[in-house]
Amino acid sequence: MSPVQLCYPNQINLAQLPTPLQRLDRLTHRLRQEQPNAPAIWVKRDDLTGSVLSGNKIRKLEFTLARAMAEGSDTIITCGGTQSNHCRATALLGAQLGLKVHLILRQDDPAQAQIDGNLFLDHLSGANVSIFPKENFSGCFKERLAEISKQYKSPYFIPTGASDGTGIWGYIRACEELKEDFSRAQIAPDYIVCATGSGGTQAGLTAGAVAYDLGAKVLGMAVCDSQVYFHNKVASDISAAKRLYPDSGLSKVRCQSHVNDTYIGEGYGLASGAVLKTIGQLAQTEGLVLDPTYTAKAFHGMLEEIKKGQLCDADDIVFVHTGGVFGLMARTQEFNF
Ligand SMILES: *Cc1c(COP(=O)(O)O)cnc(C)c1O
Repeated sequence: MSPVQLCYPNQINLAQLPTPLQRLDRLTHRLRQEQPNAPAIWVKRDDLTGSVLSGNKIRKLEFTLARAMAEGSDTIITCGGTQSNHCRATALLGAQLGLKVHLILRQDDPAQAQIDGNLFLDHLSGANVSIFPKENFSGCFKERLAEISKQYKSPYFIPTGASDGTGIWGYIRACEELKEDFSRAQIAPDYIVCATGSGGTQAGLTAGAVAYDLGAKVLGMAVCDSQVYFHNKVASDISAAKRLYPDSGLSKVRCQSHVNDTYIGEGYGLASGAVLKTIGQLAQTEGLVLDPTYTAKAFHGMLEEIKKGQLCDADDIVFVHTGGVFGLMARTQEFNF
């Protein structure tokens, strides 16, 4: 299939791009001692999209915030867990762009919320923070949303992770960058692997890989929710983008999603000993820092699949490092040295 000519929605340049594509030589060598057919592992360093803005959310927010501002909104409302990377990126970008940011956050027990990691940066950036218990979050959330909406004239609501028909354009565009990366590195990877939490990164990559004819399958490693859930989420984000931007050319893109949901473990945000060990292993062999909620869970799953002989039809695999370092910094007590 030849590349599809895309016409992009409004975008504000906020991320430090392009991010590097890096081959993990030592890790690949080690892996091949255990599994001789293992592909070479590459990492797309989207943890380097900005210092405090680190991670994947900023690519999506370049489109989401452009839309909010074009609609004349000066107030942004979004939601997530107390250690949400998305909320932290929104809070800081809001400050940068002169927008008021309201965060509606979830925590098992709000009284226990430590002001560290991402939550610290939320407060530092002057965002308005409300924290509600997980049990009746949906009720509290609706009430708070209505309250804020009454107070401001045109607030713009961003759904969890900025994963919707607007945010996914960030990862469609990232495929244009990957096309260049692959050509420069002279590789034709068979798989692009990412952690999947709210599905937008995977949705953008899935559509973008077809639009830019990357010839790679995008595999989402679920960190919560089932395979069926994410097949539906990816499909609905892509169809929302086609519907919202009918002249973008995206309607010509036909794609299929691939999801592995077997490495979620105990649940969202909960990391097993094996996942924590993977964080140590990557830091020690490559100087690469993963986080327990997303990237390490996904990376661990990818390594386990390779050890079982899966994904070994590939010469090269690209893992998208979606960030998360501040979430790790809030959880140092889980490590023993
Ligand atoms: C949000 C997030 C993800 C998941 O991306 P989605 O687009 O929500 O699926 C992965 N890694 C990190 C570090 C994140 O913050």
